[in-house]
Amino acid sequence: MRHVTEWRTIIEPFRIHSVEPIRMTTLSERASLLEDVGFNLFSLRAQDVLIDLLTDSGTGAMSSEQWAGVQRGDESYAGSPSWFRFRDAVQDLFAFEHVIPTHQGRAAEKILFSVIAGPGKVVPNNTHFDTTRANVEATGAIALDIPIAEARVPSDRHPFKGNMDLDALERTLQDSDVPCVFVTVTNNSGGGQPVSLENLRAVKAICESHGIPLFLDACRFAENAWFIREREPGQENRDVRDIVKDMASLADGMTMSAKKDGLANIGGWLALDDDAIAEQCRTLLILTEGFPTYGGLSGRDLEAVAQGLKEVVEHDYLRYRVLSTAYLGDALTRAGVPVVQPIGGHAVYLDARALLPHIEPLQYPGQALAVALYREGGIRGCEIGTVMFGRQPDGSELPGPMDLVRLAIPRRTYTQSHVDYVVEVVTAVAAKADELRGLKIVEEPPSLRHFTAKFAPL
Ligand SMILES: *Cc1c(COP(=O)(O)O)cnc(C)c1O
Repeated sequence: MRHVTEWRTIIEPFRIHSVEPIRMTTLSERASLLEDVGFNLFSLRAQDVLIDLLTDSGTGAMSSEQWAGVQRGDESYAGSPSWFRFRDAVQDLFAFEHVIPTHQGRAAEKILFSVIAGPGKVVPNNTHFDTTRANVEATGAIALDIPIAEARVPSDRHPFKGNMDLDALERTLQDSDVPCVFVTVTNNSGGGQPVSLENLRAVKAICESHGIPLFLDACRFAENAWFIREREPGQENRDVRDIVKDMASLADGMTMSAKKDGLANIGGWLALDDDAIAEQCRTLLILTEGFPTYGGLSGRDLEAVAQGLKEVVEHDYLRYRVLSTAYLGDALTRAGVPVVQPIGGHAVYLDARALLPHIEPLQYPGQALAVALYREGGIRGCEIGTVMFGRQPDGSELPGPMDLVRLAIPRRTYTQSHVDYVVEVVTAVAAKADELRGLKIVEEPPSLRHFTAKFAPL
């Protein structure tokens, strides 16, 4: 008998335990809904979406053991047993002294940067996630992206396109007032690309030589560790838990959204070794989130995360997770649709700038493609490009580094036939790419405009 991993067909390493119906919609219904929401897919009602690939954040299915944990949740205000299970599950993988629970990742960012950032400071990152950038900038500091050059070339197949540019880091640490260096694993905004252990070690060495702490934005730590196991020389056949511990041992702290590799629907934390900074962070936590043994979470949420952290590092899960994302990306590549290579862990990124060369970046090719996928097939993706990153702090506008549409895959949620449908719709839209038109923004807020801006077709 062959081991299951030697067969060609990938199978989901679970069976379905409870189901949620999908409401079917028609093309004309979707066209009029798009008008109603000003062509902003964040403003759609979820029941009007057939396949929701807007985000992999908090949208996954929990396991029967996680639901059992929900039932076990203890809602004591202070010192709940659910807190200790959560803290121990975190420290089992990330051995930081202080674990500070928050309702999601951005709350951890807000608290940390309020304490350590501020005007005149610079926070380097391989690529800041949108809320991370906004939280750095909200303190008056500069959020600097320094990925390796290959990260900006969608067709480049570098195995670790999440890596940080070490020369740029060295220069930044020499020239600027840097409170900490961040590395995002995997690099979400840069295409869901992993960071190698070798790069992390080199980043750590540079940080150490300047006496500056290194933090991980660890939202997809398990997917990153799986890629290290698959791609980095000398790491094959290792237990992913040990790779995660190696990653953690290079850092002085982390921020985390448990809505990603916590396999939960809500949750997050800030963890760090520095006693004085932790003390200031806990004080802020009490102001805005809650008492330090629950943060912004209920006891049942803490339980779901604690169990999720055990499941997310299982090899059968990670093999399925990464292979099933690649299944979508490889099928689109074979159909001639330009996608960011290699395929990342949690999402497939369509290269809208390459597919729609007739639409200028400032006419938002990514948004145009995302809107077309919804109109044609009820699929909701997310623009990651000029809408998300084009607006400068001074209010002016520049093209984003790339114009992508992210098709994020919720964890353990859709089956292979759902994905086959996505392949069919995206391929059909790509076949008539020259008919798509750009958009203009008719209304926008001062920051994080992609969530609420309204558009009109050109
Ligand atoms: C989702 C995410 C965050 C923010 O976490 P939330 O739980 O959504 O607040 C930060 N960084 C990265 C890389 C993320 O993917």
